[in-house]
Amino acid sequence: MAAELKKLSESRDLTRIERIGAHSHIRGLGLDSSLEARAVSEGMVGQQPARKAAGLILQLIKEGKIAGRAVLLAGQPGTGKTAIAMGLAKSLGEETPFATLSGSELFSLEMSKTEALTQAFRRAIGVRIKEEAEIIEGEVVEITIDRPVGVGASASGSSSSASAGGKTGKLTLKTTDMETLYELGGKMIEALTKEKVQSGDVIALDKASGKVTKLGRSIGRSRDYDAVGPHTKFVRCPEGELQKRKEVVHCVTLHEIDVINSRTQGFLALFTGDTGEIRAEVREQIDTKVAEWREEGKADIVPGVLFIDEVHMLDIECFSFLNRALENEMAPILVIATNRGITTIRGTNYRSPHGIPADFLDRLLIISTQPYTEEEIHKIIEIRCDEEEVEMSKDSKVLLTKIGTETSLRYAIHLITVAALACQKRRGKVVEMEDISRVYSLFLDVKRSTQYLMEFQSQYMFSEVPGGVDDED
Ligand code: ATP
Repeated sequence: MAAELKKLSESRDLTRIERIGAHSHIRGLGLDSSLEARAVSEGMVGQQPARKAAGLILQLIKEGKIAGRAVLLAGQPGTGKTAIAMGLAKSLGEETPFATLSGSELFSLEMSKTEALTQAFRRAIGVRIKEEAEIIEGEVVEITIDRPVGVGASASGSSSSASAGGKTGKLTLKTTDMETLYELGGKMIEALTKEKVQSGDVIALDKASGKVTKLGRSIGRSRDYDAVGPHTKFVRCPEGELQKRKEVVHCVTLHEIDVINSRTQGFLALFTGDTGEIRAEVREQIDTKVAEWREEGKADIVPGVLFIDEVHMLDIECFSFLNRALENEMAPILVIATNRGITTIRGTNYRSPHGIPADFLDRLLIISTQPYTEEEIHKIIEIRCDEEEVEMSKDSKVLLTKIGTETSLRYAIHLITVAALACQKRRGKVVEMEDISRVYSLFLDVKRSTQYLMEFQSQYMFSEVPGGVDDED
């Protein structure tokens, strides 16, 4: 399994490539060092009290103080609840897992809702696995520079070209691991130069990072040269003589470990998302294994954040699952969001604030978001134009802001993309008022769409009988 985990943590970086999405302009919570929210920072605009509150949560998460707690972001549609959750995710750092789920995703035919929730929880629990890794220890036999700096930077011979001082030179390192030295080439020489390594120094070279540490001076002389290139020479040593072991850390999630162990093609299933239901025995085995690793000091648990948007879509069974799951000692921090007011709790006839049962509401820290001012909408539109690399005239931005205040921020943001396309079509470079007006008339906002429906309702399906389907109940 260790090899698969290593492969996984390495390939994770590849899957983090980001597209321009609705929140790609958000790079953090935009707070200063005393956790005050800056008016505009890291892609975030306004909404200061909510961002400050999220900053405090962030602080508590970093200090490991609120595992098993839950936070509710409540506010009207388009007031930045998801944006704040994303800002929080970006500020957490690479090692802390952040899993997202939309309430409606729980209701699928592929797996039960408790299985989907369990998977989401386990995606938000990180495991830092410490593994022994190799470093190479060796004696630098000779450093003679024999090439001008910066000339001919090829993979192996390049080594010496990075050497200091504009001189020419040659490097010889006594080690068993020739291949790594080839791979590290220039990186290693840079490190040797930085550490002012001279011939006769014994060094430790970290294979993963290329970092060089001086360990001391050698006694005795090296022989047995093995030429590996016109400009670089390494010395062969008896196999294994100069190998040393060091600790490296892989970060994976419990869910990833589950999947790897539950399917023959586990590793690939993580990328296709075709994980299916995972048997309880597999999870038990993994929990036991991870507990063993923790006891042996080989692993730590990193509780991350699970963000559930549209939480009003959850039913009473899901809420009791959440109540129980939060009691677990490895539980992540749960951040939920909703734009609903007082509404029915799904699966019951009871109404409650946000459609959330009172006992669950009671354990939540509630952060509320407020509608944006015209000025803030203008700023968000500007930021989105930059993000989407859309050049827009001043007047158009003002018009779009007006549209945003009268319809919704989200509608205005959508119009940026389509207006840019309209502009492209007429071979324009800068989005002008005409482009905005054109797409405004082509795409309806909710208010106009509703109005249209009211006027023409009789011409739609199921309006054949007065009263329609509603009469059935
Ligand atoms: P809903 O209740 O409909 O899910 P929401 O409150 O989650 O809405 P978001 O999706 O976060 O709203 O916001 C709508 C759009 O506006 C997104 O593209 C978001 O990134 C952007 N946005 C919202 N608030 C801010 C902000 N304070 N600064 C910058 N961009 C923001």
